[in-house]
Amino acid sequence: MLQAIAGTNPHEAQSTLGSIGIPAIAIFVMLFIAQCYLSWKFARFRLYMLLFTGLTLVYPYGRAIVKFCQLQTAHHLITESTNFFRAYAPGTVGDTVYLVSLIMNDENIAATPHQNADSMVTNKVPGRVKNIIVVVGESDLADRHTIYGYKKQNTTPNIQNLVDHDRICVVKDAHSSADMTRYAVPMIFSFYDADHQDKLYSEKNLIELAKDNNYKTFWIASQDGRGQYSRPFGYLSEFSNYVTRQDYNNKENHVDWHDESLLPVIKEKFADQSEYKFFVIHIIGSHVNYSDDVTQEDIDALPKADAYDQSVHRTDRILNQIINMADTELKDYTLLYTSDHAEIVGVGHAIQYGGYTQYRIPVFLLDESKKYCQMVENIRNNDGYYTEVMDKFLLLDMLGYDVNPAAIEETKVQDRILHSDGKTYDYKNIPTEKDRK
Ligand SMILES: [Zn+2]
Repeated sequence: MLQAIAGTNPHEAQSTLGSIGIPAIAIFVMLFIAQCYLSWKFARFRLYMLLFTGLTLVYPYGRAIVKFCQLQTAHHLITESTNFFRAYAPGTVGDTVYLVSLIMNDENIAATPHQNADSMVTNKVPGRVKNIIVVVGESDLADRHTIYGYKKQNTTPNIQNLVDHDRICVVKDAHSSADMTRYAVPMIFSFYDADHQDKLYSEKNLIELAKDNNYKTFWIASQDGRGQYSRPFGYLSEFSNYVTRQDYNNKENHVDWHDESLLPVIKEKFADQSEYKFFVIHIIGSHVNYSDDVTQEDIDALPKADAYDQSVHRTDRILNQIINMADTELKDYTLLYTSDHAEIVGVGHAIQYGGYTQYRIPVFLLDESKKYCQMVENIRNNDGYYTEVMDKFLLLDMLGYDVNPAAIEETKVQDRILHSDGKTYDYKNIPTEKDRK
């Protein structure tokens, strides 16, 4: 919750606060003021009490400070380092230190080109797919999609229609490799994963590799890209030939946090004359507050549905509009849709004991060749899941890069995820409700 409020842009912070409820916040603030008042009025200063309580803090704070210094020396990541205060000395001081570092953070690492590609990339041929579109959804849960068997509401009529006409293949049993945006999105577009967190900043990402193989690259986003929460994907976006986001290069085209605002830009950029084009479209999708993510059209279409289902319906409609424009302007293209992570509807994501629901993402491909629908099945993890870290293998192939088959086999053996506590887990052992002490 702290991250969702302090580590994001003002709109999302407001939206998240709104989802907690104003009365709850008001009661919390009043209790805090009352406590301060009573302490000031009745508490007496006693030196031995101060010394005694101070002594009990030496170990947890000492540990937090040592950990903080270690990480700070190695990586200079202030917020990741202050996270140790929250972990080892939770409570008012630990959480406040963390919160302040989130708000003050201005580590907007510049998008400086890299020299080296990952060693798993072996060979380059001309691009195999002329136009590649990747739409990255937000907080989208597969269980709420008609295309995944959800019966209560018809949330995805347009995509279902394309499935029925054999234009789209749905990837069953897919899961994300993280439960928050800032970890998940880099796993799609770079060699960064749970066990290789340095690779986002030390190697060429897929945007750079696309450019190296003569693609013109576009990043069109209703999400932002600066500040602690958003920088990992904002950083990636700025390698593109053309970037527009809710907080970047949006003066003329009026891109903001409404996904609809992207459509005119997408139409214009689909008409670009370059032969090879790579598009990333990063949408707000179903981020809390869900009722911000729906239009009257979705409410009219699903009047009895909750706001979350209506937001899935809205994303379905936007995807259909993107596909219609691609059919007209691009003709020859392949589209991958994946959510960054899923959502526990009504609760959120990045929840420590939230379990598997926040990982079950929808993934599908519009792939006339069927090559990539088949490839998905071939590169599934040995545990049967299609995982987010596999997206890069699909995309690298589309871009005309050969990958060492041994590297893919290696990725299949382990199913590793980066959880919101910053720790790495095997997917079968992620923290769930029963791990809560
Ligand atoms: Zn997200």
